[in-house]
Amino acid sequence: MTNSDLICAFCGKEPEEVVSVVNAVSVNAKGQQTASAICNECVELCVQVIGLQKPEWLERHRQFVATLGK
Ligand SMILES: [Zn+2]
Repeated sequence: MTNSDLICAFCGKEPEEVVSVVNAVSVNAKGQQTASAICNECVELCVQVIGLQKPEWLERHRQFVATLGK
């Protein structure tokens, strides 16, 4: 894994600039591995965007978050 894998694909920030960068490796239909990453700030932004698009989803998300750290 190279350093560029650790840069958020959404905002370009590196792990040193945020709380956390989560990596994902997936395999496409041609069998090639592709890597991408997202930082905690963009995850929060995504939750906001999805919440605006699908307000009914927010309650489900709230319940999910409440189960974490237990
Ligand atoms: Zn980001």
